[in-house]
Amino acid sequence: MHPSSQQGHGKSHDHDHDHDHDDHSHLSEQEARVRALQSLLVAKGYLDPAALDRIIETYETEVGPRNGARVVAKAWTEPDYARWLADDATAAIASLGHQGRQGEHMQALFNTEQEHHVVVCTLCSCYPWPVLGLPPVWYKSAPYRSRVVIDPRGVLADFGLELPAHLRIRVWDSTAEMRYLVIPRRPEGTETWSAEQLADLVTRNSMIGTGLALTPEQAARLKEGQP
Ligand code: FE
Repeated sequence: MHPSSQQGHGKSHDHDHDHDHDDHSHLSEQEARVRALQSLLVAKGYLDPAALDRIIETYETEVGPRNGARVVAKAWTEPDYARWLADDATAAIASLGHQGRQGEHMQALFNTEQEHHVVVCTLCSCYPWPVLGLPPVWYKSAPYRSRVVIDPRGVLADFGLELPAHLRIRVWDSTAEMRYLVIPRRPEGTETWSAEQLADLVTRNSMIGTGLALTPEQAARLKEGQP
């Protein structure tokens, strides 16, 4: 957690969650305008929220997270790159061309046999755009932001992720000046795979910590359109 990091938010990140505060109070004027306009368009029937979600989902799953998946796959296959990523994630990620707004200060969190990392922004929606694209709707939701710090295991179970009891779960609170990329563990049975093949196993949620990298079997089923 980074309760001391407040620059860019204008508000403390370590506010308590006991009070029933106005969830929109932290919105900038522009964000508030966008939200008001969106609500109006939905209410008038001009905008289908489901269609909007589909567009965002496309951006999230096809445009953004592929960048992060390449970073992860490179770290899995090149130990030197993995070390660089651990030491200076901002530079290692920028070397692949992924840099810019909301990615100026990156830290890579490597999952291990003992530790599983999960990322949240308890205050709003800080997210590493250059590697993951736009944040998913649930990442910005009040239930995720408040519950994941109190009951990470329960939240992960809601995502279908049941972790062994011995695994320590660490929750990292993103801020305006530090964004996190989870490096999931490399699935077994992929020892001979190329980085390009491996990138197909790296899901967006596995890089937030609410999922794991796909197994080769899961990836094959997805490709065939099966659940
Ligand atoms: Fe934030």
